[in-house]
Amino acid sequence: MSIIVLRETGKTLQDSFAKIFEHFNYSPRGNIFIKPNFSARPPIIQGENTDPIFLRELSKFLIKNGARKIIIGHGALLGIKEKTFPFERIINKGGFASLRDIKGVNILNIDDIEQNTVESNGVKFSVPKILQEVDFYINLAKMKSHMETDVSLSLKNQMGIVSPMDRVNIHKNDLDDYIAHIGKSVKPNISIIDGIIAMEGNGPHDGKSRKLNLILAGDDMVELDSLTAYLLGFDCKKILHIAAAQKLRVGNYPTNNTLEAVSKYKIYDFIRAEKFQKFLKNIYVWPTKSCSRCITVLKEYGKHVKKQPFKNLKFIKKAALGKEKINIIIGRADDLEFSNLEKNVCIGFCARNFAIKHGIKNLDKCPPSVRETIEYINEELNQ
Ligand code: SF4
Repeated sequence: MSIIVLRETGKTLQDSFAKIFEHFNYSPRGNIFIKPNFSARPPIIQGENTDPIFLRELSKFLIKNGARKIIIGHGALLGIKEKTFPFERIINKGGFASLRDIKGVNILNIDDIEQNTVESNGVKFSVPKILQEVDFYINLAKMKSHMETDVSLSLKNQMGIVSPMDRVNIHKNDLDDYIAHIGKSVKPNISIIDGIIAMEGNGPHDGKSRKLNLILAGDDMVELDSLTAYLLGFDCKKILHIAAAQKLRVGNYPTNNTLEAVSKYKIYDFIRAEKFQKFLKNIYVWPTKSCSRCITVLKEYGKHVKKQPFKNLKFIKKAALGKEKINIIIGRADDLEFSNLEKNVCIGFCARNFAIKHGIKNLDKCPPSVRETIEYINEELNQ
């Protein structure tokens, strides 16, 4: 197994792709499937989303060098009744629609096509059937920090390949383990991580873009993600989904020699994601292992408070001036611990175990509506 690390500012992408394909001794041919990372919800942040120029240049490179057809496959983003993120809107707002003008390039909504079931140690997922029919599969990830999984690299990027229902179920189960199982079931021929403009801080949605001018590629996702995490300052063995994937034999950790050979690319001041988002003086939102549906509900709740401050005066006073720390907990927070002096508000089915363990109430819905969340938070904080 092998890895290549390249300095790239975005100006010599064709050369970089040539070096990558040469390094792995691959020639583009037949039908090639690319899984990008169209994860951006407005406002679109460069470090969060696949760069349309990167994808355009990669598609052009593949066609020019022998590929028959490029299939860029992605689905809609998980949303809620009050706020959806349909596929076509992602394509248009993300700046990807013009890729359709390149001869031989198709953009496919993978939620709408025939699915096959794949399995890893009894864990089953629905993936697009076309993945098993193409000649070559490129897993095109973005380099990001992540509040729930520390980093989002090639293993995490594959979460977008499974059906929306699977994605929801993954969050109800063991997120790290399930990411590893996807890696075991679906193996790309090559994974490319675009770190030209990466994301640091509270990624994937609330971090900051950072120009790192790096591209990495590998044919072993454990090795590639571990090495990338090392460059960003992490101990890869402590990143749970990478460790789970290594245990499942999705791939191997890089050797010390390999790490040493790339250490000149290390970023010494990369800002990691925190485990919470803080609002005003007292509100701490803990996404733990939540899917983006509960996150969206809370974002909509925040918008509601901003829009109607007088209606939410009690909440604002407690949040800005009160003496009590208020934790809003979503997702499977099984391992979180707080002092008894703090107020905990649990939202969503996944936070149920945390609520039971601490003898508190929970808004036990998957996902709750925005209205239910507004009423529930008001009720909890007005006690
Ligand atoms: S309860 Fe919330 S976080 Fe859990 S699966 Fe449902 S929507 Fe996602």
